This record gives sequence, structure tokens and C-alpha cells, in this order.
Amino acid sequence: MLKKKVVVITGSTSGIGLGMARAFAAQGASVMLNGLGDANEIEALRAAIESEFEVKARYSPADMSKPDEITGMISQAQQELGSVDILVNNAGIQHVAPVDEFPPEKWNQVIAINLTAAFHTTRAAVPLMRSRKWGRIINIASAHGLVASPFKSAYVAAKHGIVGLTKTVALETAEQGITCNAICPGWVKTPLVEKQIDAQAAARNMAPGDVVREVILERQPTRKFVKIEEVAALAVFLAGDAAASITGASMSIDGGWVAH
Ligand code: NAD
Repeated sequence: MLKKKVVVITGSTSGIGLGMARAFAAQGASVMLNGLGDANEIEALRAAIESEFEVKARYSPADMSKPDEITGMISQAQQELGSVDILVNNAGIQHVAPVDEFPPEKWNQVIAINLTAAFHTTRAAVPLMRSRKWGRIINIASAHGLVASPFKSAYVAAKHGIVGLTKTVALETAEQGITCNAICPGWVKTPLVEKQIDAQAAARNMAPGDVVREVILERQPTRKFVKIEEVAALAVFLAGDAAASITGASMSIDGGWVAH
């Protein structure tokens, strides 16, 4: 379905980003991976995508808090893979603290990686998409792009910000064959969340299963994690021709969280 398309996915060495990279590759797209991690492990992920799906996969080590490296990643995709047709802004970090104790450097880091990076990728990629009269920008926001939780001021601000950026970019590109949408997942079981389950279980002296049900999934009416594959399938749908008229939207995939 996406043969001859090139997708750049930030933060795709783990979790949701890696799941999306594999889902796009399964549709025949060439993939530019990005993210942090052990060089050998990342090379193994890249090589596995190439051999399993018979597509090109490249890797950019660009740090999403560094504007020059971000624009370098977009140039690298164009040079090595031929274009940037689909941009998925996914890289993200979290820091949890009361607002009056929130370290300013952590605030700046969360805003840089979760919000400002998407501005830099978008401003570099839109001219390339415009020249081909086709493009898809998919921003991985969060339920926290639509509602708040305490102690997550920077994350909630960044995710609300990316929902606003999504709408603005959608309006500016609406007549150019480009769409820009946000996906707002609830809790998804990624390595990041698995670590939080173990930490909460130890801190509260609870069984991991009870932590999942009573603490982590307390806000998610289905009481089930959203699957990485479900988020990836929604991203693939938004990249397809059937989604050509969906733009500026924020799509919840959160087990009913924001229906509260
Ligand atoms: P994850 O920790 O498994 O993956 C995050 C990715 O971002 C990794 O590849 C990491 O290397 C990369 N990254 C972090 N800092 C970076 C930097 N400075 N430069 C480049 N890459 C960097 O987390 P995940 O759960 O898969 O999260 C992916 C996205 O989904 C994030 O934007 C997150 O906010 C969002 N999200 C996650 C959940 C959830 O429950 N897991 C829910 C809603 C939204």
C-alpha cells in the first residue's frame, strides 16, 4: 500500500516508534529510524526490518533536542532514501514532579523533545512534501494532549502544544495534498511503562498485576493497555489514501480515557 513512500519516524528504536517502523515497512515503505540506544542493538533492528520486509531502512542518530541534528536527519532521509513522504513525530520523554519542584532543565528538555522537535522536523519536511504535492504528518500526542494529570506539567503542556501545532500545520497545507493529524494514545505497554509498573509495585508493596489494574489503568475505562500494534495500524491508516480528507484531527486511541 505504501510502496515507494519514505517514512521518517523519530524515536523509533523502542516502543510505539519501533512498532510503527515495522508496520510501515510491512506496507512496503522505506524507513528512516531514529532514536537513542546501543549502536549494535539499533543496527540489529534496522537490519531485521530490511530483511524481514524487503525494504530499505536507514538510521539517523539525531538528538531531538538539537535543531541542527534534526534538520540533518531530514536531509539524510532525502539523500539516502529519495524523499520524505511521511513524517511521524514520536520521540518523547516524561518527567514527573509537582510544578513548584519541577527542575527547569527538565521542563526545557521535555518541551524540546516532545514539542519543539516536531516544529523543526515539520519545517524541514513540508517543502519536500509540497514539491511532490503529497505528504502525511502524524504527531504522536497523548491523552495528555487533551486532558491533564497532576505532576506532569511539562509533558501535558508539550502534548497540548503538539495538538495545536497539528491544527495549524493542517490549515497551512490543506490545499497541497498534505495532511497533518495527531494520535492521542492512552496507556500503551512499552518498555518505558513496564519499568513504571515494576517501580510502582515495589514502592507500594503491591503485586504488578494489581498495580496495572488499580494504579496505571485507573483512568482507562477498558482497564486494558492499548496495543502498540493498534497505534501503528492507526498511523498506517492515516498515511493511506483513504485518510486524504482527515486533517487537523486529534484521534483518541485510549480505551475511553477522555470520554470521562
Ligand atoms: P519509549 O521510551 O519506548 O520510546 C521513546 C523513543 O524516543 C525511543 O526510541 C527513544 O530513544 C527516543 N528518544 C528519547 N529521547 C530522544 C532524543 N533526545 N532524541 C531522539 N530520540 C529520543 O516510549 P513510548 O512509550 O514508545 O513513547 C513514544 C511516544 O508515544 C512518546 O511521544 C510518548 O509521549 C507517546 N505516548 C506514549 C504512551 C504510553 O503509554 N507508552 C501514551 C501516550 C503517548
